[in-house]
Amino acid sequence: MPGEFEIIARHFSRPARSALLGVGDDAALVAAPAGLALAVTTDMLLEGRHFARGADPAALGHKALAVNLSDLAAMGADPRWFTLALALPERDEAWLTAFARGLYALAGREGCELVGGDTTRGPLAIAITAIGTVPAGEALRRDAARPGDDLWLSGVTGEAALALAQRQGRVRLSAEACARCAARLDWPEARVALGRRLRALAHAAIDISDGLTADLGHVLERSGVGAEVEVAAIPRPAALAEVADERLALECLLAGGDDYELLFTAPPAQRDAVLAAGAAAGVPLACIGRIVADEGLRLRDAAGRPVTLARAGFDHFAA
Ligand code: ADP
Ligand code: MG
Repeated sequence: MPGEFEIIARHFSRPARSALLGVGDDAALVAAPAGLALAVTTDMLLEGRHFARGADPAALGHKALAVNLSDLAAMGADPRWFTLALALPERDEAWLTAFARGLYALAGREGCELVGGDTTRGPLAIAITAIGTVPAGEALRRDAARPGDDLWLSGVTGEAALALAQRQGRVRLSAEACARCAARLDWPEARVALGRRLRALAHAAIDISDGLTADLGHVLERSGVGAEVEVAAIPRPAALAEVADERLALECLLAGGDDYELLFTAPPAQRDAVLAAGAAAGVPLACIGRIVADEGLRLRDAAGRPVTLARAGFDHFAA
């Protein structure tokens, strides 16, 4: 598009210190660190699908990178470099400035450098490919859960889903709850520090982007195991208390998505070390169940009765 090179030069050409060659050539050059594996991941955000027209560009810059960093965190990888593919309907300097501000603020904080990308005219779309490094044998994979493992969850789930429900007019939250949930939806924080500390401790891990039960299902399938989850052990965000409909509350908690928390398994012998890792990373952790040999996901309430979710897609895992 006209001005493509001015856009790149003005907004996306800060020097990358940890790359051999950053933005400006046909490809970036990075040194593959001796003894480390490269973890490579891509996620995109599309207007109309992942965010509404008029969304805050600074938040979009932040979130587009955060969702990729969350995938690296779930592998136990250290974020290093990323590329940005951007389709824009028009050249809008104010939008670009705010977008770059949100993007670079998170990138700088996590030590992940923009080394290249592509810029084109089209419906607003943002795709980022992020590259991290991890000692090859220590990466946290989905296929490594073992019977007897504890099942752990970082932070809380459900707040982003509540923010979405509020925007869609399905719930009415207090101003305070609304602000907190909106921050979780629009400015998610990837659990990078936690993932890094878990690599020597955890067996399997995944980040929760599609909902706790759906993403847990991926770990179970890939590992060929099952899980028993105690729903009462899953921390409830304060905002959930404002939801009268318990079915909706459970759906947000267990199937909401956009949480970007880590769900991981670790042997019971590592319990203290896992809690210490959470404390060191500044992230609360809850043990919400355990991995069993019997395939399938079984959700139980405090009295041991099965909990079933109304939403389609979870029948697959019902007891
Ligand atoms: P080519 O035509 O060789 O693929 P481009 O003209 O698309 O190169 O891009 C020129 C340079 O600018 C490349 O180094 C590319 O990686 C970089 N670049 C393009 N768009 C972006 C962007 N949105 N963010 C960062 N770097 C970008
Ligand atoms: Mg080229």
